[in-house]
Amino acid sequence: MIKENLKSIQNKLPEHVTLVAVSKTKPIADLQEAYDAGQRVFGENKIQEMVTKYDELPKDIKWHMIGHLQRNKVKYMAHFVDLIHGVDSLRTLQEINKQAKKHNRIINCLLQARIAEEETKFGLSFEEIRNILNSEDYKALENINIVGLMGMATFIDNEEQLTSEFSSLHLLFNELKEQNTDLTTLSMGMSGDYNLAIKCGSNMVRIGSSIFGTRHYFK
Ligand SMILES: *Cc1c(COP(=O)(O)O)cnc(C)c1O
Repeated sequence: MIKENLKSIQNKLPEHVTLVAVSKTKPIADLQEAYDAGQRVFGENKIQEMVTKYDELPKDIKWHMIGHLQRNKVKYMAHFVDLIHGVDSLRTLQEINKQAKKHNRIINCLLQARIAEEETKFGLSFEEIRNILNSEDYKALENINIVGLMGMATFIDNEEQLTSEFSSLHLLFNELKEQNTDLTTLSMGMSGDYNLAIKCGSNMVRIGSSIFGTRHYFK
């Protein structure tokens, strides 16, 4: 089913939207099936799990870290990660920079904005995002590049509220792009809300269960 799911989503996505196949908790065989169907961008939310999968799968896969980051684990993915979506502090940017430098790389990052109502969702306020981008501390970091913003909307089936959350981030993205030409990526939208996110300006969607099926978590 994975191949069929992927194809039907790919066919409906506008050309300018990148699909990140979110494969967290799924076995290697599932990722391989998606890979064989042409998918090359995969998203994981645990560094250790991503490293294990990186080691076993073809090396032309682009690995995106979409989860909340533990600073002490950044070093394990610094040699290969393609894009880090969930950056929510300057200290984390500094750690990514330090680890990227060891591998002589420049790692692309997205700042995660808090747009949802839920307190449980991580992220920066819009003011904090503006401050980081304008700070000398950020400008001093030579081995990272902030290439856009990421947001997760409230987990709710209310189109009006989702539209307002996504659109607010799109507005901020447009505002910041005027002064910063590195900003190209707006990562918004998951299985339940990606069509709406795209209407609201997203150009990168992170889709898991609609491709790989429901996730089962084991304790
Ligand atoms: C799990 C996850 C997704 C994908 O969720 P689905 O509803 O399965 O598509 C997207 N973004 C983040 C940050 C996630 O943790």
